[in-house]
Order: sequence, then structure tokens, then C-alpha cells
Amino acid sequence: MLWGKCMKNLRLANRKKNECTLISVGDCTFGLDFIVIAGPCSIESKKQMIRTAKEVKHAGANILRGGAYKPRTSPYSFQGLGEKGLEILYEAGQVTNLPVVTEVMDPRDVTVVAQYSDILQIGARNMQNFSLLKEVGRQDKPILLKRGLTATLSEFLNSAEYILLEGNSQVILCERGIRTFETYTRNTLDLAAVAALKELTHLPIIVDPAHSTGIVKLIKPMSIASVAVGADGIIVEVHFNPKEALCDKTQTLTPEQFNDLNVSVRKFNDYFKKQKERMVEIA
Ligand code: PEP
Ligand code: MN
Repeated sequence: MLWGKCMKNLRLANRKKNECTLISVGDCTFGLDFIVIAGPCSIESKKQMIRTAKEVKHAGANILRGGAYKPRTSPYSFQGLGEKGLEILYEAGQVTNLPVVTEVMDPRDVTVVAQYSDILQIGARNMQNFSLLKEVGRQDKPILLKRGLTATLSEFLNSAEYILLEGNSQVILCERGIRTFETYTRNTLDLAAVAALKELTHLPIIVDPAHSTGIVKLIKPMSIASVAVGADGIIVEVHFNPKEALCDKTQTLTPEQFNDLNVSVRKFNDYFKKQKERMVEIA
């Protein structure tokens, strides 16, 4: 089979029989619950982070996000607050009792990021930074691995394999859109990849409808579609005033928009869960 062939080097990331890896963070479990991760693109200040954290917690987020080390296309754009940002994110997590996730870009920062964060994120641009993958593979924390901008599913899973091979079995995959000829959306959200990965790997997979579309209005329909194809969760960007956000304002939700999104995805998740159970009963 063609699928089998392109994945033939995988030993750990490939799915054997019907196994599913469950990854628990705080009181939620990837692979079991539908996980909603929300928070600003970047940590900008204590006031911004704590206020946004309280808003997303109130609306029902499971995990808080926020970037301290930002991979920006232009070296003149806001680069993030670094370790100061990590301290703020940690405090926001404590205040709201939410686990936190943040990106690590440099192998030299892995230890410090792991001290402050419950999940370490490997961004799309670093999906094939093999020394970084090996370094996070030696950590005792779940890793959120985002798909590279031009990565095939085989390359994506081989990157997960690097982390698994170092002994870290807690890898969460994230489909965040890929580069195509289409320019209307920021990237092209590859939802077929989610359904395919459910077959190919036992690892949980979430969807980023924000970085894939770049457009606030597309986030809700793409989130609902993610539920329908079997995603284990979503990650979105929220700011108490998106117009003022230092990064990614066109894809950033207001707390009200996030609340509406959260209610909808939970409703659809309950609906699809019932449909799946019914299908199992019929089978
Ligand atoms: C992010 O989630 O903050 C981010 C930069 O995403 P990506 O690596 O998918 O572009
Ligand atoms: Mn962003």
C-alpha cells in the first residue's frame, strides 16, 4: 500500500492495531477530551496576559497559550519578551489554574522554557530542526509539534519520531496549514491530513485554524470542520483587544468571539461523539 510505503521508516510514531496515545495535562487528556487551547499570539505585558487568561478561562479554555520567543519573518518585528514573558505566562497559568503552552525556538532555551511551561511547542518553522527535536525529546514534558509549512505527512511523522526516539512519548501533533498557490488564506488548512494522521499514527492531533487561515471569520467554520474530521482539539489566538495585538491581529479573536467559538465546538463535539457511538452500536 502506498501509505505504508512512504511511512516505512517509522518505528514508534506509526499506528499499530487500534492504539491511541493519551496525554494528560492538568485535568484534561489529549486523545480523550476535545481540548481547546487559547491565548494571545505573543505575551506583550502582564496586564494583557493576565486579563486575556482570565477571559479564556471564563469562556471554557482548557489550556492557555502565549509566545515568549516569537519566530517572526522580519527581524524588525516584535520578537517576544523572552524569559520575562515566560514568567508572566507562568503567573497567568497560576492565577487561572490553567496549564500553559509556549514555543521554544532554540535548543539552548529548552531547559528554561520547560521550567515555566507545561507543554513545549515546536513551531512550524522548526519542525525539522533536528537538534531542537532531540533536545525536547529528552524532556519530561508533552511536546506540541506543529507541521512545517511545506512538510509532507511522512516528514511530519519522522519529526515526531525524532522526539519519541529520545524517550519522550508525549507528542501532540498540530496541523496548522501548508503553503499552496492560494493566497487568499494565509496558508491552506489540510483537513485531509487530520483524517489521514488518525489512521497513520497513534499520536493525538489538534488543528490551528488561526495560522492556517489568517482570517477571524474562517476560524469558527474550520474549527467545526476539525471536530468533524476527528481532531483532538484546536489552538486559537485571543486578545482582549485584537486591534492592539503586536502580532497576528487579523486572526485574533475577541473574548466574546472566543466564547461563541467554544460553545459551538463543544456542541458539535457532543453531536459527533454521539454519532460515532451510534455507528459503533450499528457495526
Ligand atoms: C504560533 O503558534 O505562535 C506560531 C508561530 O505558529 P506556527 O509555528 O504554526 O506558525
Ligand atoms: Mn500567531
